[in-house]
Amino acid sequence: MKTILVTGGAGFIGSHLSESLLTRGDRVICVDNFYSSQRENVSHLLENPNFRLIEHDVTLPMMFECDEIYHLACPASPVYYQHNPVYTVRTNVSGSINVLDLAKKLRIKVLLTSTSEVYGDPEVHPQPETYVGHVNPIGPRACYDEGKRCAETLFFDYHREYNVDIRVARIFNTYGPRMHPDDGRVISNFIMQALQHQPITINGDGSQTRSFQYVDDCVRGLIALMDNADIVGPVNIGNPEEYTIKEMAEIVLKNIPQTQSKIVFTPAVVDDPKQRKPDITLARNILQWSPKVPFENGLKRSIPYYRSFLSNTK
Ligand code: NAD
Ligand code: UDP
Repeated sequence: MKTILVTGGAGFIGSHLSESLLTRGDRVICVDNFYSSQRENVSHLLENPNFRLIEHDVTLPMMFECDEIYHLACPASPVYYQHNPVYTVRTNVSGSINVLDLAKKLRIKVLLTSTSEVYGDPEVHPQPETYVGHVNPIGPRACYDEGKRCAETLFFDYHREYNVDIRVARIFNTYGPRMHPDDGRVISNFIMQALQHQPITINGDGSQTRSFQYVDDCVRGLIALMDNADIVGPVNIGNPEEYTIKEMAEIVLKNIPQTQSKIVFTPAVVDDPKQRKPDITLARNILQWSPKVPFENGLKRSIPYYRSFLSNTK
């Protein structure tokens, strides 16, 4: 039985990861300051004697006895990470240094959840891990994109300079239950809008693409990477099923047939990547991992979460 520290463990992906680790038989120390999440995400885990919830900001140093660290703490929705951009950079840089210092001191393995955003507005499609990216360093997304790029730099420098055992995952757009209804990301927005008969707000003309991964596949990929001895990364963890945002909106509408919502087009957002799709050859070959949940299936599993959120808030 290992004791595993999960920073950002009360967030959307972190809560599913914590659950999977507990189910596997590990102890979980969940560290979160609820900057972009709600306690309810982990309230069902509080009764479990192997789960500990600690309110702490990772920009401050930390000392917890543990055997492994998954470092997720960082807002992931553009709405949240652009709300206080300097704090987003601080979370990525100071937070990663604090986590890496802990891993160095305890001589334990530490995994970073980096992002496909390190590829920026990619000129290579699909994106392999060898692509170094096309990021605007001074735009409104830079606090997140460059913050994560610097976090990756720190991970690799601690690895080379101090021999810290690292893993770096580059996660592509992930969705599912517990992504907060007001999170601002596209899937939660479209489902909430459709359930409430509100306009479905497409930014720009909707021709930009994303490839959507169900959260269970993501968690399986993160654990496979952490447990694999042969690779430090970076490794893309995503589902190559690619849709334009307009196609995706139509699929959401099809799966909520009672909705009276109609699509509306709102102004395009600055620096919005035009296309995104992971090349997952590396994960397939080295981790023997690939996503299992097709998009429409994952959507069907997600909609009830938002429906019950709405009925509980009535
Ligand atoms: P989320 O916002 O739901 O979770 C992030 C968690 O980190 C939240 O619980 C938040 O309160 C916590 N947090 C933020 N700043 C903190 C700080 N300074 N100290 C302590 N806790 C802090 O987002 P998510 O979608 O679950 O993302 C989790 C991780 O995965 C993030 O690192 C994100 O960059 C990465 N990621 C997610 C996606 C995705 O599509 N969901 C894609 C790429 C990468
Ligand atoms: N998007 C949209 N309407 C929304 C929210 C997002 O059209 O209400 C678009 C957004 O401009 C982007 C895509 O959907 O092109 C994915 O956005 P999200 O914020 O989910 O993720 P990211 O941009 O970080 O990939």
